[in-house]
Amino acid sequence: MSTVHKITAASASAAASFGGSRVNLCYQCMTCTLGCPAAGRMEIHPHAIMRKIQLGEVQELLVSSAIWKCLGCETCYSRCPNEINIPSAIDELKHAAMSSGKAKSISAAFHNIFLGGIKKNGLLFELGLMLRLKIAMKDFFSDTFLGALMIMKGKLSLRPHSLRESGAMKKIFEKSGAGTN
Ligand code: SF4
Ligand code: SF4
Repeated sequence: MSTVHKITAASASAAASFGGSRVNLCYQCMTCTLGCPAAGRMEIHPHAIMRKIQLGEVQELLVSSAIWKCLGCETCYSRCPNEINIPSAIDELKHAAMSSGKAKSISAAFHNIFLGGIKKNGLLFELGLMLRLKIAMKDFFSDTFLGALMIMKGKLSLRPHSLRESGAMKKIFEKSGAGTN
């Protein structure tokens, strides 16, 4: 037996300003999904994410990995006939997933570790990112030969590089509220 999903007054009101976007205007034309370069890797496509927000089914989105596959490229936003800022709505979901502790996917872990590294050093430290991601994934041995080869060829630095003005980057993070570690 199929379940009937309904938009309630509360979910419609929340969708009207979700992430500063007018998600309530979405009429499911799928133009966003058809142009999205990441849609093939999302288990819930951009148009379906908009629909779930309209229906108030946000909790399901917070635990999904789909929101972490969004590249923030804004292709969908530029194509949407209703000018709905889809990446902004997805960013709102990412923030909510992080602050509620519901971001469990490996994509979320990557996002968190990546931002934490940029916040700390101002520049990406690839080796540190890889090691922390491996610990998060509990995958300690895959690609170790490749990693060693890259270090030997000087493609991976053993020490992080820092911006001369690394304090400026920290201030940007503080102002935006981004980065959790
Ligand atoms: S392009 Fe805009 S209106 Fe169409 S499905 Fe996507 S968000 Fe909704
Ligand atoms: S911003 Fe995200 S959802 Fe929109 S097209 Fe780019 S990857 Fe897809």
